[in-house]
Amino acid sequence: MREEFRLLVALQDLDIMIKEVKDQHTSHELKSMGFKLTGLKELQDARDHLAEKIPAALLNRYDKLAARFTVAILPVTSNKCLGCFVKLPTSFFSSAYSHELLTCESCGRLLYIP
Ligand SMILES: [Zn+2]
Repeated sequence: MREEFRLLVALQDLDIMIKEVKDQHTSHELKSMGFKLTGLKELQDARDHLAEKIPAALLNRYDKLAARFTVAILPVTSNKCLGCFVKLPTSFFSSAYSHELLTCESCGRLLYIP
C-alpha cells in the first residue's frame, strides 16, 4: 500500500474518533463502557498534523467524500466495494492499477488494493 493511502486511512480513523467525541451521547456510552476518550483538541491537533502530509488534491477528494460517508476510503475485499457491496470490474485488479487509488463507480468511495 502506498504511504499516502496509509496516511489517508489514519486520517479517516481520527475523523471517526473526532465524530464520536463530538457526539455527546456516544461519548457517554463509550465512557460508561470503560473506554477512555482522549481530548477533542488532541485529536484535532493530530488530524491537522497528519493532513499536512497528504497531497492537497487527495485530501480535498477525501474531505468531500467524508462529508457524505462515514467511511470514505476502503480496502477492496473479495473484489467488492465494502461501502456499497457492488462487485468491481476485473480491470480494477490489473497490475496497472494496483498502486493507484481507485474510485467505486457505484458509490464514489475511494478504494485501494491492500
Ligand atoms: Zn461502492
